[in-house]
Amino acid sequence: MSSSIIGPNGNDSANNASRLLSLLHHAGGEATRAELTARLGCGRSAAGYALTDLVNRELVRIDDRPTARRGDSGPGRPSHHVHIAPTSPVALAVHLRVDTLDVAVVELGGRALRVEREPVEARPDVTSIFLRITRLLRKLGREAGRPIAGVGVSMPSPVRSEDGYALEPRHLAWAGVPTRDLVREGLDEPWPVHIGNDANLAALAEHRHGAGRGAHQMLYLTTEHIGIGGALVTEGTVFGGARGYAMEVGHTTADPDGPRCSCGSRGCLELVADTRALMRAAYLPDDPVTGIEYRARVLMEAAERGDPTATAAVDHVATLLGSGIAGLINLLDPDRILLGGLLARLYQLAAPRIAAEMTERSFLERAVPVPVVPATLDCAALLGAAELVLAPLLQTLQIQPAQPPSASPGAPIG
Ligand SMILES: [Zn+2]
Repeated sequence: MSSSIIGPNGNDSANNASRLLSLLHHAGGEATRAELTARLGCGRSAAGYALTDLVNRELVRIDDRPTARRGDSGPGRPSHHVHIAPTSPVALAVHLRVDTLDVAVVELGGRALRVEREPVEARPDVTSIFLRITRLLRKLGREAGRPIAGVGVSMPSPVRSEDGYALEPRHLAWAGVPTRDLVREGLDEPWPVHIGNDANLAALAEHRHGAGRGAHQMLYLTTEHIGIGGALVTEGTVFGGARGYAMEVGHTTADPDGPRCSCGSRGCLELVADTRALMRAAYLPDDPVTGIEYRARVLMEAAERGDPTATAAVDHVATLLGSGIAGLINLLDPDRILLGGLLARLYQLAAPRIAAEMTERSFLERAVPVPVVPATLDCAALLGAAELVLAPLLQTLQIQPAQPPSASPGAPIG
């Protein structure tokens, strides 16, 4: 890659290039030159230097012919179209769930170019799972045909920020796992490896690329399989607490005398408002290893059709979820609440019930109602894992040299 062009004000030019690439990243990887110049706010000449810098670094490309984008009906001449270059570095991202393992190649703009999914058996063995993860990473890294900026891994566990140690992936029936060490040991390349909690990473991706864009204090709650994950994104940064473990909202107490939780406490929010709670409320089996996510969606479809038992179950769980959200509003004063996974579906069915409980139980909500919106990204935690790699890249523009030519690149999946 060629070196940077330094404009009339060297550091400012590099800074503008970094900001411009961030703008393009947050815009999904494509924008018009006019849009980027306006958002950069430093004048056409400085924006031109920054853009030239990024083109010379082979990070972005500019379409030769100016074209008006679809829906671009503003006045003036059509603007050149700028997009992420197919030579730019990519992140390798991993999302380990209770029932599936996804490994992906993700480029700037938050676009997954290729995703490989494998099933995960019940109570999997730690060693065999990490052998599978690193085998897939090596394969996708070889076949990407792009410089690899690093690896991001999403774990269903609180993760210690200091060393990427997953404290307790309870839903996988694992004790603590030194995740970053296990991934590094299985790789041939010295790629930087970053580890994060799945809900934190999903929230980060929603804030960068989804329904959380522009929020200042974004509270995120989600249920993918079982349990409830939560995160707070404050001014663009995930709130981690002292060690990275913060926002285990699923384990806040909803009923002090409730049933025993896997965390050791009793009556945690996730015991009364997650997938299993929904199934129990409808007098259905709540075994998490027999396709509970699918069965919960079937139950919610029955509620949508007006089935009385399903409707009562949805109403019951929505009430308890609304109560939990009310407490979090009093604690965190969010300006937007995102619900992901099955909670987004629950909100579609029972928004008035959830809102009523929030209003009843939170005086802050009564003073200034907080918008609640469904999350919008399909693979949020996977894209969030990629953000762990791409965000430092955007800040420093320190790019590893390209790998030697290798196998043909994987097919984009959209
Ligand atoms: Zn608990």
